[in-house]
Amino acid sequence: MILKAPTIARVSRPGQFAMLKAPGVFLRRPLSIAGVNKDGIEFIYRVVGAGTRELSLLPRESALDIIAPLGNGYEYDLKNRVPLLVAGGTGIASLRFLALSMPVAGVLFYGGKTKNDILPLKEIAARGWKILIATEDGSRGHKGFVTDLLKRHIGAGRPGNMVLYTCGPHGMEKCVSQIAADNNIPGYVSLEEMMACGTGNCQGCAVKTGDSYKMVCSDGPVFNINDICF
Ligand SMILES: Cc1cc2nc3c(=O)[nH]c(=O)nc-3n(C[C@H](O)[C@H](O)[C@H](O)COP(=O)(O)OP(=O)(O)OC[C@H]3O[C@@H](n4cnc5c(N)ncnc54)[C@H](O)[C@@H]3O)c2cc1C
Repeated sequence: MILKAPTIARVSRPGQFAMLKAPGVFLRRPLSIAGVNKDGIEFIYRVVGAGTRELSLLPRESALDIIAPLGNGYEYDLKNRVPLLVAGGTGIASLRFLALSMPVAGVLFYGGKTKNDILPLKEIAARGWKILIATEDGSRGHKGFVTDLLKRHIGAGRPGNMVLYTCGPHGMEKCVSQIAADNNIPGYVSLEEMMACGTGNCQGCAVKTGDSYKMVCSDGPVFNINDICF
């Protein structure tokens, strides 16, 4: 979905998100900003419930009430490290924006349950990114988890030159965080928690970090991967 919003497009950074008001649905729903163009902002979403269903039914040229950009984005001062992006399912949305914004290309590990979860990413490949795909049923790419590919890649390379970025299901992020710790690789994780306000007021999206709780919406959604207690 592409929304015309030139001012938001100008100030949005990879990792930030929008709260969208779907018609007839009480609470706003968070969606990552998946990219920007001169005029607007792009989203990639899966229809899972009432909010995303209503969004998917909107006719072209509809007006939509959104709050954006929200949250803190990815740090990408790479210090000569090779970026490894690990996306699961719709986690590709925020990592797409990151891959399209980074000054250097790295490797994008992209996993889904089946080939139907894997979106074409020609514009990322055109920027020199290597894209490695895994599906749980083997219908596209490696059969198994995307983290199998990540482990293999790290094992064959120089972890001291790598930096990790991940967004996707909780289990995948937990595994990436363990891989980061085992190999002493710095990294960032974008968390998805259910949230009502998106601005830190309702405190519905609290997560445990070190010795305190943080709000995914206003302190994140991107955190240092070592700070999250998965
Ligand atoms: C910062 C952030 C960015 C996000 N970006 C994207 C994106 O780019 N694309 C995308 O498709 N989705 C994204 N999501 C998830 C999306 O916001 C939820 O799936 C949303 O609830 C869908 O609304 P709905 O009304 O269609 O479904 P709902 O009726 O709200 O939920 C449908 C089902 O999904 C479960 N669910 C809802 N929210 C979450 C959640 N946050 N985590 C896990 N399970 C949940 C519910 O328990 C229910 O079973 C993001 C979430 C966050 C917090």
